[in-house]
Amino acid sequence: MYYNDQTILFLDGEWLKASEAKADLFNQTLHYGSGVFEGIRSYKTAEDSVHIFKAEEHYERLLYSAKKMHIEMRYSVRELVEITYDLLKKNKLSDAYIRPLIYLGANMSLTASKEVHLLITAWQWDRLLGDRLLDIMVSSYQRPNPKSVPVDAKVTGHYANSILASTEARSKGFDEALLLDAKGFVAEGPGANFFFEKDGVLYTPPLGNILPGITRNTVMDLAGELEFPLEERFFTLDDLQDIDGAFFTGTAAEVAGIRSLNGKPFRKNWEDTKGYDLSLAYRNKVKNNIGHDFLLV
Ligand code: PMP
Repeated sequence: MYYNDQTILFLDGEWLKASEAKADLFNQTLHYGSGVFEGIRSYKTAEDSVHIFKAEEHYERLLYSAKKMHIEMRYSVRELVEITYDLLKKNKLSDAYIRPLIYLGANMSLTASKEVHLLITAWQWDRLLGDRLLDIMVSSYQRPNPKSVPVDAKVTGHYANSILASTEARSKGFDEALLLDAKGFVAEGPGANFFFEKDGVLYTPPLGNILPGITRNTVMDLAGELEFPLEERFFTLDDLQDIDGAFFTGTAAEVAGIRSLNGKPFRKNWEDTKGYDLSLAYRNKVKNNIGHDFLLV
């Protein structure tokens, strides 16, 4: 699903067949979750070119995450973006999901390994949470405490928390989980930021206990363009009683409409909410972006 015999990936400056690339089983990231990564999407645009959406922002966040984990990265944002366009060309991908991963060398001690590897690969991937409206539940798991780990960095090990929350939600018949932060405020989904609408106003948690989503930023800009009132503030589960609608945002999930929380449907139909308008505006934006593009071959 993620690769076949033809797939080419980028590993430490070389272009290799995915089926032939190797990694050391003693690597620190595999054992302790100390790597950092990104999830990026490219889109075939209306002009038949391919554009990596917010490529610079994603690679800036990757370098930020690396710094937070004391990982030295020698590639610049510019170089990383160029490698990624080459990767798409080599694999003839247009609508793709791109996965850069910085992982560390063999090291069983508990200080960051000095041996740093860079993998970039890509595959075709449907929207993470599908196209259906989501029934979500409040997780019994909290997001990691920002005093324990840098929650604003995209660290591989943090996703143990995400996997626990999503697996719990699926095992109880829900589509996805909603997690609270260590202080009991609503934080985010396992792999997406959370917004809700009440009485004509959109709300989303401020930065601090969440991953600063690039889609979250885009959606906030779009809300501004559409003149939708939006507030960043802390809120609890009590504030989610009798809301009009809600949605998740993320690169993989895009803007994903939510239908119910803990079995209780929201007041409005998804199509009548501001979230729905934003989901259309988001689609339009990713498809009509121009910038560092290349024409399809
Ligand atoms: N929160 C978490 C925990 C995530 O894993 C993601 C996906 N990267 C997001 C939010 C959304 O971030 P973005 O919009 O940058 O993909």
